[in-house]
Amino acid sequence: MSNFEQQDPELFTAIHNEEQRQADTIELIASENIVSPAVRAAQGSVLTNKYAEGYPGHRYYGGCEFIDVAENLAIDRAKQLFGAEYANVQPHSGSSANMAAYRAFLKDGDKVMGWSLQDGGHLTHGAKVSFSGQEYNFTEYGINPETERLDYDAILKLAQEVKPKMIVTGASAYSRPIDFAKFREICDQVGAYLMVDMAHIAGLVAAGVHQSPVPYADVVTTTTHKTLRGPRGGLILAKAEYGKAINSAVFPGIQGGPLEHVIAAKAVCLKEAMDPSFKTYAQQIVKNAQAMAAVFNDSDDVRVISEGTDNHLMMLDVTKLGLYGRDVQDLLDEVHITLNKNTIPNEQNGPFKTSGVRIGTPAITTRGFKEADCQEVARLILKACKGKDDPTVLKEVSDKVAELTQRFPIPE
Ligand code: PLP
Repeated sequence: MSNFEQQDPELFTAIHNEEQRQADTIELIASENIVSPAVRAAQGSVLTNKYAEGYPGHRYYGGCEFIDVAENLAIDRAKQLFGAEYANVQPHSGSSANMAAYRAFLKDGDKVMGWSLQDGGHLTHGAKVSFSGQEYNFTEYGINPETERLDYDAILKLAQEVKPKMIVTGASAYSRPIDFAKFREICDQVGAYLMVDMAHIAGLVAAGVHQSPVPYADVVTTTTHKTLRGPRGGLILAKAEYGKAINSAVFPGIQGGPLEHVIAAKAVCLKEAMDPSFKTYAQQIVKNAQAMAAVFNDSDDVRVISEGTDNHLMMLDVTKLGLYGRDVQDLLDEVHITLNKNTIPNEQNGPFKTSGVRIGTPAITTRGFKEADCQEVARLILKACKGKDDPTVLKEVSDKVAELTQRFPIPE
């Protein structure tokens, strides 16, 4: 029995059970991934003991010489990986990265255009329940209901009417490429800043599998824990001229002491993302998503939003099954497949029941799933949904899930 187990058996058990759940589950939540042992080692390191308010070379505490090395490594790697002039690795999360970016460029009440939550944007892109929609004057743009894709002409038209100080793009639930060059043109036509939140696709951008926003945007924010496969956290990239304002917005603007153990783990994941194997990984994420989407496209029981995917996720309309997204999420939980309910463009059932689900391949690709395995998973999802009232069918599905999770153990 370890010391930890003896000292705190309840918590030890909760963590152990979560570890087991992850091992036994096919994880399809598009925003999740499985980090390397090196990322976990850095995050669990003694760096958690250290206060280091300020920035490398300019700290408000003594004893920061090694912390500075770690944070500088993270900064330099972020700049190198994404070809950015400036990086801030301190934001505790994607939401705080967004908050700091807004504060560096905007004043309270300024006009901003953001991608609506219902059509795939994030809460922090202007939703009324979030600080973003409360502090700034957001106008939402969305998806063309016919094509279920961004409509750049409509966005330009809206921007010409609204005359925002900033346009924010980036999504949590959109399966098609985002044309950042087009957004730059729109911003230039109306004199707006361009902010790109690439949280979902950062790993694909790092690997060159999605167009990079860095050459086009004034500021780019991201999380480090999705396709980038690092610790939970945020990151801001920008042109050098905005560095001072962004630094001040992060600290002392909205944060105190940086989480240096997490920053060290960010440095690890950024190095991992520079390895040629990461490119292969990112390419496989997309191939896997496309293989799954093909199975769903061939089925009459669900509809793939925009008929497919070019990235790590797909959105399914599940209403033809006679189910809400919420039902599918709950049902699949029972057979150890985890995904999340999601609104779809032109949502008719509200954000609690929803008409859709979101499916992503970053985590199963980390486990080694290839196209054929992903197609099997797609078929299992359809089988469980259609056989939801038949315990024999559900048992068959969960047995197959167990086979797959054993065949592809979590990499150690
Ligand atoms: N931005 C986008 C596009 C996201 O999808 C998310 C999270 O899902 C965030 C920001 C927020 O990140 P966090 O949960 O770390 O605050």
